[in-house]
Amino acid sequence: MERRLKLIILDGVPWRAWRRLFGNLEGWVESGEARVWRMRARLPSISASCYATIHTGAPPQVHGVTSNETIFRIPMPDVFSQVRAAGGTTGAVAHSFWSAFFNRAPFDPVRDIEYDEPDSPAINHGRFHTMTGYGHANQMTPCDLDLFATLTSLSRRFGLNYGLLHSCTLDSMGHRFGHDCVEMDHACAAADAMLAPFLRMWREAGDEVIVTADHGQSDRGHHGGRGADQQDFALYYFGPAEGPPEDALLDQLQLAPTILTRLGAPVPPGMGAAPFLSA
Ligand SMILES: [Zn+2]
Repeated sequence: MERRLKLIILDGVPWRAWRRLFGNLEGWVESGEARVWRMRARLPSISASCYATIHTGAPPQVHGVTSNETIFRIPMPDVFSQVRAAGGTTGAVAHSFWSAFFNRAPFDPVRDIEYDEPDSPAINHGRFHTMTGYGHANQMTPCDLDLFATLTSLSRRFGLNYGLLHSCTLDSMGHRFGHDCVEMDHACAAADAMLAPFLRMWREAGDEVIVTADHGQSDRGHHGGRGADQQDFALYYFGPAEGPPEDALLDQLQLAPTILTRLGAPVPPGMGAAPFLSA
């Protein structure tokens, strides 16, 4: 596999927060280096359900992840397995749910907190965190800069064709403070500033990059149900592919087949939605 792509998921960031507060991403849209569209999460707009949808291209009604309590090894092809089938190398820096869904479950912290498994049919190079003890007063989230640096390190050392990064910082901040407040203004700006230099590094290394969320969040700091505030988020794309008109509303089911198409990996029959980027 020749191509390289990184998927950066900042958990729980609604459309209007992206477009208002991420000055670096918006600056690259303005300069023409990036394109941005609105994407809508499938229902329920709950984190675990959305992770499963993002990577299988199937809705919760098919993959069966209906809440953050239904965590199991999903017996379906996903982005990791398809990249591996096409000869690519995969990596992930993410919450432990990603390892459980797409590699093995239950998540064993000692066995699974980090692994390098070159022959794995799923995730070759994984670095995970559990956020055990997470709550309103103690977010238990790692620093985003550390996550970005870890993915960059894995990518350089192991030549990742596909690298997933997922951070819960902003989702946790939103649950704690809601979205119409100075704390969230600053948290989004901080994430944007931390991401920007890494994005430049990845682009200079020849990677395509998608930056997006798993779902939105209401001003009261909620998601799971229906509505543009809970379901909609921005998707930024850095790369040479052609995309739809700027006012297109993308379906979360389209993300998995789009990534596979960009990487030249086979799209399995269960991923029925049309890619939104050209091959
Ligand atoms: Zn989430």
